[in-house]
Amino acid sequence: MISGRKPQQRPDSRVQLLPGGLPGPYLLPDDQHHVFRSAHGSRLVTTESVEFIDHVGGAGALILGHGHPAVVEAAQRQLGRAMHLFGVHNEPALELAERLVDTVPCAERIAYATTGSEATAYAMRMARAATGRDLVLKFEGGYHGNHDYALVSTFPSARSDFPHGHPDTGGQPAATRSTILVAPFNDLATVEQIFSDHSGRIAGIIVECVQRIIPADETFLGGLRELCDRSGAVLIFDEVVTGFRLGPTSAQGHYGVHPDLATFGKIIGAGGPLSCVAGRADLLDHADPRRRGGSDHVYLNGTLHGNPVAAAATLAMLDELADPNVYELLDATTGRLCVGAQAALDRHGVPAIAVHVGSLWQILFTDGPPRSYADIAAGDSLAMRRLDAELLRQGHFVLPGVRRFVSTAHTDADIDATIKAIDRACARFVEHREPTQRSRSSET
Ligand code: PMP
Repeated sequence: MISGRKPQQRPDSRVQLLPGGLPGPYLLPDDQHHVFRSAHGSRLVTTESVEFIDHVGGAGALILGHGHPAVVEAAQRQLGRAMHLFGVHNEPALELAERLVDTVPCAERIAYATTGSEATAYAMRMARAATGRDLVLKFEGGYHGNHDYALVSTFPSARSDFPHGHPDTGGQPAATRSTILVAPFNDLATVEQIFSDHSGRIAGIIVECVQRIIPADETFLGGLRELCDRSGAVLIFDEVVTGFRLGPTSAQGHYGVHPDLATFGKIIGAGGPLSCVAGRADLLDHADPRRRGGSDHVYLNGTLHGNPVAAAATLAMLDELADPNVYELLDATTGRLCVGAQAALDRHGVPAIAVHVGSLWQILFTDGPPRSYADIAAGDSLAMRRLDAELLRQGHFVLPGVRRFVSTAHTDADIDATIKAIDRACARFVEHREPTQRSRSSET
């Protein structure tokens, strides 16, 4: 039975061993602090046997849902052969490199890492080493991971004073932050102005083609491509989310704009410790260890780089995704979910919109489809979190304020159940309506 609530739940006191008693940065309602025991397909089960339909999908890594048999079998087979190898090639990682070069338009070489954050840090380092320039431009509201070069104006509470960004974390050296320039997403004119103000000093641009839930305008990515070509800067697409999520050739194939470097994680990794930078051979070759000692050599190294179990699981996942209908089906399923969600919102007079890009979706309290972080920040994020909390209480696992993912494990019945749950959540939302104030958007 699906039920996000169970009376007499005893809080597990061990959670206090973690900062704030939380597993990560996301604030959950006090009555929704669960410990999960297992996950299968579209379902999560807590240690108290409460079942949820999962909409988080391992932050998007699990496009086939939890525990897909082919993925589990591939991982188990590889576990029996070698769980971890260091400093040597392994068969699944080489096979995956070949697969990536065959499918990802920009990929001539692959450099493995462990997390999406690590991949974006390496890509930025490659851009700097290759150009001999220090500055990297990112977009307000764009998330590129947990390192100091990424956590600039990702979820600022005040509007950025472009091109200067706000720190998203304490402990970030101001000198590091000063190497990151920030521009509004989907605003090519401002990017051009920043390039002209910093002529010959910008190493590269890093961008999410779908920034959280905001798709890039048709011409925006092409404009960035031209600007980088004109100025000798490196164009980096952060495809940690969009890679193999937007389609078989990822966002770059979907948009028909090819970057110099692209970062992959999540689906590349299949829920295991694996990510990579893919791109132009001459850029990746800065990491050739024979160039060590040179000022343009890029140091790449990590204990878990190219992990064979994660690579084997990823290959199995990509095999399943090779079916040409998969993405169309995911898109249609997510579209149906959003049409149903919108009808529920409208029926209850909840001033929100259900938006989706492929299999990414979210309910936003914005005036219309957002084009930039400023549009999201102008929305009512407290109301968004309150509705999401109600959805949690209906047995649907979402992180309040965070975009969610449809997987191939979501059945038609799951989607119907989600729409009904949104309807019930809307009813409770309206019943308990309290004056909300427009407030800072959540980090996503
Ligand atoms: N880039 C993007 C676009 C992401 O969404 C994320 C993770 N949410 C990252 C980078 C960082 O990946 P990881 O959490 O694996 O370090």
